[in-house]
Amino acid sequence: MDSIAINTKKRNEFIDITSQVEKIVKDSKIKDGLCVVFCPHTTAALTINENADPSVKKDIISHLEELVPVGKGFSHSEGNSDAHIKASLLGSSLNVIIEEGNLALGPWQGIYFCEFDGPRNRNIYVKLIGEK
Ligand code: ZN
Repeated sequence: MDSIAINTKKRNEFIDITSQVEKIVKDSKIKDGLCVVFCPHTTAALTINENADPSVKKDIISHLEELVPVGKGFSHSEGNSDAHIKASLLGSSLNVIIEEGNLALGPWQGIYFCEFDGPRNRNIYVKLIGEK
């Protein structure tokens, strides 16, 4: 298993980790298989979405803020239930097909680490399954 260290700077932040995941795939020499990206945190998530126009990630973050506002009067005493809910909405793992040694992402797609309770030091796991 490989990992990617991420130090987030804001409470809510999407960080494009596509190039780091691609490097792990290239270094592995796996040509045909599956790349599993896993977030072992309860207030952060992973998603695949457009990485061409930065306003897309801005809109996703601001809409999630409207859907699940901070301090809405949740039960959880830590005060970060909004972050837990946002993390569950987006999910904790991604599968991307490896085809001819490359991630089979669409032309506009990138892999985002999604922070909802930053700033924090985070670590993402990457597991590759396949043949060289
Ligand atoms: Zn909590």
